[in-house]
Amino acid sequence: MIIDVHGHYTTAPRQLSAWRQRQIASAGTPFTEELVITDDEIRETIIEGQLKLQNERGTDVALFSPTAGGMAHHYGNEETSKQWTRTVNDLIYRVTQLFPDNFIGVCQIPESPGVSPANCIPELERCAEMGFVACNLNPDPTDGYWTGPPMTDKWWFPLYEKLEELEMPAMIHVSMSCNPNFHGTGAHYLNGDQTVFMQLIQYDNIFKEFPGLRFVIPHGGGAVPYHWGRYRGICEQLNNDEDLIERLMGNIWFDTCVYHHAGVKFLIEVIGAQNVIFASEMIGAVRSRNPRDGNNYYDDTKRYVDAIKDLSDADRQTIFEGNARKVYPRLDRELKKRGK
Ligand SMILES: [Zn+2]
Repeated sequence: MIIDVHGHYTTAPRQLSAWRQRQIASAGTPFTEELVITDDEIRETIIEGQLKLQNERGTDVALFSPTAGGMAHHYGNEETSKQWTRTVNDLIYRVTQLFPDNFIGVCQIPESPGVSPANCIPELERCAEMGFVACNLNPDPTDGYWTGPPMTDKWWFPLYEKLEELEMPAMIHVSMSCNPNFHGTGAHYLNGDQTVFMQLIQYDNIFKEFPGLRFVIPHGGGAVPYHWGRYRGICEQLNNDEDLIERLMGNIWFDTCVYHHAGVKFLIEVIGAQNVIFASEMIGAVRSRNPRDGNNYYDDTKRYVDAIKDLSDADRQTIFEGNARKVYPRLDRELKKRGK
């Protein structure tokens, strides 16, 4: 079985973004409109979108979440974020009900700048009850200005406690960038990945406090694997602990969304199969074809793993399935319940 842990509902019916625009424009005045989308409209977008690509590319199950750029936690206030989050999570839930064999839910949470992450817990619990297996966690709810506390601050601890209790890993995933210095998917996303990794090294506290907490850092971990020597060196300097980075990697996984073969091969060589987890982020950040690579889609990431000839069968299985089952216990239980 091939499990893709990183998929977004970027093909959602247009009513969703129109609803969101009206919600944002309501700017604090009560917005009570319900989102109206039929099951047939959902089916159409999935069958012609993500499901078609899953079938063509030979992957089986995708962990499916709302569009990451669309989380946009900086808009409005906490209530704006709660209403939006509930609405998009409900839509993801409907996809998972219409296509239970192919999509398992990952939720957005209603973060808001300056508001305690503890306030996200009720939505997290609601989604857990609906069968979601993980959440996307935005380390920068300001969407590009990073004025909040680092992920290692006690500010986040109530949320971590709940994630640990629910056995839900968090994918560390920033949202859109409203800072013109940082392009969203080309700069802000990767900044987010390596910024959080560095926070984990610098403060080295949260996995001691929450040993069951698991972070999946997407986009191949940003620049982290490429600068592995730098991070290891800083780790030793800051903490005088040669083994720290290995210890941290007991709770951290990087996905395969780097969109070229050499990058995926390098990622696995440097980080090791035990910490690399298969994902495509499709249909997402880079949707075009690569004319220098057989005109294949950049985000057809299975091909890059397939093409690593010296990868052992055991490591291949770890990357495609084993790590997902280990990191996402709720997913594993659900699949087993279905005899998979
Ligand atoms: Zn993503």
